[in-house]
Amino acid sequence: MLIIGLDGVPPELLFDRMADVMPNVRRLLRTSRRAPLRSTDPPLSVPAWPVMFTGVDPGTLGVYGFRHRSENGYTLDHIPQSGDLPVPTLWEILSQRGYRVGVVGMPLGYPPPAINGAYVSDFLTPAGATDTTFPAGLHAEIERRFGRYVFDVSFRSGEREVLADELLAMTDRRFAVASWLLGQEPWDVFAVHEIGTDRLHHAYWKYFDPAHPEFDPENPYAEVARRYYAAVDTGIGRLLGQIDERTRVLIVSDHGAMPMHGCFCINDWLERRGYLVVRQPPTPGTPFEKADVDWSRTSAWGAGGYYARIFFNIRGRERSGAVAPEEVAALRDQLAGELGQVLDPAGRPLGARVVAPSELYESVRGDAPDLMVYFGDLKWRSAGTMGHPDLFLAENDTGPDDAVHGWDGVFVLYDPSHARAETLPTLAIRDVTPTILHLLGEVPPAHVQGRSIPEVVGASIPSPAAP
Ligand SMILES: [Zn+2]
Repeated sequence: MLIIGLDGVPPELLFDRMADVMPNVRRLLRTSRRAPLRSTDPPLSVPAWPVMFTGVDPGTLGVYGFRHRSENGYTLDHIPQSGDLPVPTLWEILSQRGYRVGVVGMPLGYPPPAINGAYVSDFLTPAGATDTTFPAGLHAEIERRFGRYVFDVSFRSGEREVLADELLAMTDRRFAVASWLLGQEPWDVFAVHEIGTDRLHHAYWKYFDPAHPEFDPENPYAEVARRYYAAVDTGIGRLLGQIDERTRVLIVSDHGAMPMHGCFCINDWLERRGYLVVRQPPTPGTPFEKADVDWSRTSAWGAGGYYARIFFNIRGRERSGAVAPEEVAALRDQLAGELGQVLDPAGRPLGARVVAPSELYESVRGDAPDLMVYFGDLKWRSAGTMGHPDLFLAENDTGPDDAVHGWDGVFVLYDPSHARAETLPTLAIRDVTPTILHLLGEVPPAHVQGRSIPEVVGASIPSPAAP
């Protein structure tokens, strides 16, 4: 089985708007099942990829975003690593069962896990790291053959012309490395992840989508997205050209993307409502970690990103906790009620959706936020800075950014024993791992929460005998 993971690609781009520059994908779709793939809550690469390839929800994994607190501190200073996952990934499950597995870049992939095969670490690999492959010697061999391997690009740097070339170069090299590794042995399962699609959306969405509030038809970057998707298709075509006629192919993405409307300044809002107290008013754009917060008088604070994680400052849990544990339930209700009344810059309800992790997940582990808040169904980000005169910013406070995440990614399954086009209803990301195991004739381990697609939608996907 060949698994191609394209970060943040929504169904409308892969199936429709970019189809004319993607002949290889188009051809594959003619004989494949396809569906929108509903992402995780929250729809972010981390937790979405680990959920896709464990079959376990974010709460049970204890992964709620790209950064986490250590020991209930007031900053998010820990980047999740492969070893943080409490359950084995699909790659580890298959390894234990004797499959030969090759993986390039699938998150969480740093440090690269020891599997029965080879693993190249993911886009969260720290700059300058040399422990990026399993087995370790693969790192030097890749650099010798292909030059410097690029894990990610700085997509909010603002240099749009340079970035387009960097994206193309990164992706070209990724597929070259994947193609080379794929050819090294007859793998049972081979997977590659490309982060560039997500970076493209963040950096260039407003240049190609007339629905973006800042779209300008005369802009110089109107063709960047199509050029990039064409390059991705070339890379995919290269891999498809290497597999035999019995190989199944899966193309998946972890979440969608859509135009960004701006940022909501959650900590300025909390400050105005008296939940957060500062000793000195921060200058506009001060990162929250740098603000002079009076923790003895603060009951709640928020983290920035595609959604807001709200943490209460609880006595006995936080270092300078100010809220008694018995007051937390009332605080939660009050805060949720007030957030629900926030109006957008046009005076309409912002539509803040406030949920507690316990409402979403089968279990809640690790550094869970006390509340999760989505603004305008994800169209507005949560600002990680404070001191702004207005509660809404037109731009992302962390640098130029055009896109936010959407709920639906893609699911494409080409199965030689069912080579015809079929559109399935929306599938759930947690069901991908049990589906792959089903296709391989394997039974999922008991801790897997998702179900295989035949169970979910009643589609007849035959399960052959295991190799
Ligand atoms: Zn992603």
